[in-house]
Amino acid sequence: MAYDDSNIFARILRGEVPCKRILENEHALAFQDINPLAPAHALVIPKGAYVSMVDFGAKASSEEIAGFFRAVAETARKLGVDESGYRLLANSGPDAHQEVPHFHVHLVGGAPLGPMLRKVTP
Ligand code: AMP
Repeated sequence: MAYDDSNIFARILRGEVPCKRILENEHALAFQDINPLAPAHALVIPKGAYVSMVDFGAKASSEEIAGFFRAVAETARKLGVDESGYRLLANSGPDAHQEVPHFHVHLVGGAPLGPMLRKVTP
């Protein structure tokens, strides 16, 4: 899938749409999800144009990948969930209902989150 730079996260990165910023480094931005599903619900996105985890893992530099995951870790600390617990989730493609075609990780926590996933049968 080709990257479409009109997606909402690309617009946030360009400063065209506001966000509730949590933190930022050279390679990544973390902000509050607009429709939080838990007391803590952040999105962490790379600053580069990547559609999915596969795209990111294949094309991003080692520095971008390290910077991205350092931002995820720092976001957990900044939201105060690093000890109580949190869950990371990255939707990719139609089966996962990815809404925004810019790679992102959801970081959710702040309360017991229940089972990992409802059991899925084909
Ligand atoms: P996904 O299904 O993983 O692509 O989820 C996209 C997420 O982006 C959803 O949880 C939305 O609530 C969130 N979202 C969409 N637009 C915005 C926005 N402008 N600011 C913050 N979060 C957003």
